[in-house]
Amino acid sequence: MTEDEIYAKAKLVWGYTNQALMAVEEASELQKELLHHLRGRGDTRKVVDELADMIIMCRQMRKIFNPDKVDERIRFKLARLENRLEVASGQKEGRKRRRKM
Ligand SMILES: [Mg+2]
Repeated sequence: MTEDEIYAKAKLVWGYTNQALMAVEEASELQKELLHHLRGRGDTRKVVDELADMIIMCRQMRKIFNPDKVDERIRFKLARLENRLEVASGQKEGRKRRRKM
């Protein structure tokens, strides 16, 4: 099976709700492992493992929520991040922010 076929079958066999719940659960597991890692109690292998789980669930949710739209938002957000990095590193002048009075 291809990766896309696996995601399609997972949705067919377990349904959207269970897969969305699994995405939430995997996000929580990754969060926990990153926090352990930040506190110096982490196991890098566990972080990598949870990253893999999270990426799989993100790819599955991407497929469910329209890959083209998700990819479009990724491109937009990466371009915005690139711009912010250029401003932060002094390569480019940022927009002037208006102060609220
Ligand atoms: Mg996991």
